[in-house]
Amino acid sequence: MPFLLAAGVLLLGAALLANPATATREASLLAEAAAVHARVLTIDSHIDIPPNFGTAAYDILQAKPPRQKLDLPGMERGGLDAAFFVVYVPQRERNPSEYARAVSDAFVKVAAIRRMTDLQYPDRISLALSAHDVHQIRSEGKRVALMGIENGFALGRDVGLLDTYFAFGVRYLGLLHNGHNDIGDSAVPSRRRSEASAEHGGLSDFGRKVIARANALGIMVDISHAAMTTALDAISVSRAPVIASHSAIRGVHNHPRNLSDEALLALRRNGGVVSVVAFDSYLRPVPEEKQTALAALRAEFDLKDAEDWARMSEAERDTYMARRVELNRKWPRASVSDLVDHIDYAVGLIGIEHVGITSDFNGGGGIAGWNDTSEAMNVTIELMRRGYREDEIAKLWGGNLLRVMERAEALAERE
Ligand SMILES: [Zn+2]
Repeated sequence: MPFLLAAGVLLLGAALLANPATATREASLLAEAAAVHARVLTIDSHIDIPPNFGTAAYDILQAKPPRQKLDLPGMERGGLDAAFFVVYVPQRERNPSEYARAVSDAFVKVAAIRRMTDLQYPDRISLALSAHDVHQIRSEGKRVALMGIENGFALGRDVGLLDTYFAFGVRYLGLLHNGHNDIGDSAVPSRRRSEASAEHGGLSDFGRKVIARANALGIMVDISHAAMTTALDAISVSRAPVIASHSAIRGVHNHPRNLSDEALLALRRNGGVVSVVAFDSYLRPVPEEKQTALAALRAEFDLKDAEDWARMSEAERDTYMARRVELNRKWPRASVSDLVDHIDYAVGLIGIEHVGITSDFNGGGGIAGWNDTSEAMNVTIELMRRGYREDEIAKLWGGNLLRVMERAEALAERE
């Protein structure tokens, strides 16, 4: 882990100057964190892949930062055992051609993930179809890929497609993205379509059918991006525990994408888990000058939402990201310590059994200190600094999520 070692040596150097006793404590903490990080099973519950994933433009052995934050050598170096590779489709207008396009876009991503695990790099990464598979693959010394969908728009209007996605290996379904869909209301209504804050008032009848089928198959229901009304409905309707694959905590920072205390408490009663996400603007208030600069940058690229992003050329996206990096240099993003503030709050409110960790890499996630898969250990270091024990860190890093996955499997009613 060259990067982490370098960071550790730097920290150590600064501490030595200050106080030799502090330096010794720091050195032993870093050594212990490295050992703990290597022992516990680490799962990142939400990493996006772009449509060109698995092509020469995005080979998982040679990712191109800053846009491509997930790579296989980085996972290996960073001690990240497993990740949910996410099949995301943007929410577009609900008409027959856009439904068809969403299904087709989702299939392309599913195929790219299967190609990676089945054809390209089967000796280094394998697809897990069950919680048991995750342990099995890890014991073989390989990385573990799991598959989740982000946005139920990928079903079109056809609940039956869930069976197809399940057969391909999908094990969670994020009900929504930005913008309402047929399943329910989103935390962030579409500005492009001038949506009101509520369309269904929570989960729709179609949404109830989707959750019933997901439960029957053993696909976990994911409430990230759902409005709190939809989230609470989904938690009460689901027979199996529910996850929030990438959300932060409203009690620490009041953002519409973050989970309210009410939703967190409902999640605990339901046995579920929230993976706290390393997403700058969800973790803390972004300085006003930076917000202004970001808004100007978006305006320059005519970037209002994910639909515009999908339309941009690769070169435009690269330029845009390079400019974002400049802004991050001027105004640093949230830190790993900010992330763990949210974890602390969630653990305090609903208990260690119901909290997890995720990056949302390639989907807007990434913070100072955890900006790509190779830096996962920095989260463990901060958790240890806060006094979390190894068994607690193991729960946060994947144990809780696997418990929910096992429960969803057990409650499935396979025909
Ligand atoms: Zn997302």
